[in-house]
Amino acid sequence: MRLPTITDALRARRLLRSLLAPTPLSAYPALDAATGARVRVKHENLQPTGAFKVRGGLNLLASLDPAERERGVLGYSTGNHAQSLAHAAAHHGVRCTIVMPEHPNPAKAQAVRDLRAELVEHGERFEQARAHAEQLAAERGMRLVSAANEPEIIAGVATAYLELFEQEPELDVVLVPVGSGTGAAAATLVAAALAPECEVIAVQSAAAPAAHDSWRAGELVDRPNRTTVEGLATGSGFALTQRLLRDRLADFVLVDDSDIEEAQRLYLRAAHTVAEGAGAAALAALLAHRERFAGRTVAVVCSGGNAGEADLNRMGRPAVIG
Ligand SMILES: *Cc1c(COP(=O)(O)O)cnc(C)c1O
Repeated sequence: MRLPTITDALRARRLLRSLLAPTPLSAYPALDAATGARVRVKHENLQPTGAFKVRGGLNLLASLDPAERERGVLGYSTGNHAQSLAHAAAHHGVRCTIVMPEHPNPAKAQAVRDLRAELVEHGERFEQARAHAEQLAAERGMRLVSAANEPEIIAGVATAYLELFEQEPELDVVLVPVGSGTGAAAATLVAAALAPECEVIAVQSAAAPAAHDSWRAGELVDRPNRTTVEGLATGSGFALTQRLLRDRLADFVLVDDSDIEEAQRLYLRAAHTVAEGAGAAALAALLAHRERFAGRTVAVVCSGGNAGEADLNRMGRPAVIG
C-alpha cells in the first residue's frame, strides 16, 4: 500500500480550500483552569458533517477515476465515516451505499439518508458490518472504501493538521482520538514535516484498545470492542495507519469511557461545546494525565459533535462519583 506524503496533504489542502472553511482553534480560560495546561481546542465538531472525516471523504472522492465514479462507492461505519462519504459522494454526484451495524445512532443514520445515500443495516458490531460491506461491494462492483487503509483519506484528514500548526506553531503536544487511526496518522505526518518537536499522542478507549495494543505490539492485533463511544469502536488495528504511527507517534494512552463522559461535561461547561464521546476523548486524556501536561501548550482535537440522545441526556446530569 502506498504511504501518503506531506505533498499529498498539500495537494489535498489546495483541493479542499474551496469546499471547507478552516475550523477555529480556540482557547478557553475555564479549560486551562480545569486542566493546568494551555489548552487549544481544534473545533472539528464544526465541520458540515459534524466531524473531521469530511476532509478525507472529499479528498478520496476527488481522486477516483471515471470508471470508479461510474460504479459508485460503498463504505461501512458506525456513523461519521458514513456521513463523510455520503456527503462527498453527493457533492461529486457519485452513487453511495453505506453499511452500518444494526440499530445505528438514529441521527447519524438519518443524516446519511438525507444525503441520499443507500443505508444497509447489518450485524451487531463494526466487524460484521465490515464483512458484509466487503461482500456487497464485490457483488455490485462498487469501490469499497476502507475506514482507514486509504492514502487519500489520510491526506485529506492531514489538512486539519496543516491548519492547526499554522494557527498555533508552538504546540508542545497534540492529543488525537483514535478509532481506526487516520486522524493520528495524519497528525504525525504533518508534525514530522512542520513541527518535529511537537509530540503527537494518540488516545483510545480502554474498552476498545485494538489500535493501542497494535501500536505497542508492533503488529496488527484484534481486541474486544466494548466501548459505547462510537467513532472509537473498532476491534482491530488497520495496516496503513499503524504503519504511519509506528515510527512517529510519541505515545499512546488509554482512557476509560467514564473519563470521556467527564470530558464531554467539561466541554459543555467550560467551552460551550457539544462533543460526542469520541470528540471528547483527547480532552479526557488531558484530564486523566493532568501532571504530565501541566504548564504545556496542548492542542486537543475535538473531532466530532454528533452527540446522540444518550450523550445529551448524560451530559445534562451531574457526574456519578465512585
Ligand atoms: C472517526 C472518529 C474518530 C477516530 O478517528 P480515526 O481516524 O478512525 O482514528 C474520532 N472522533 C470522531 C468524532 C470520529 O468520527
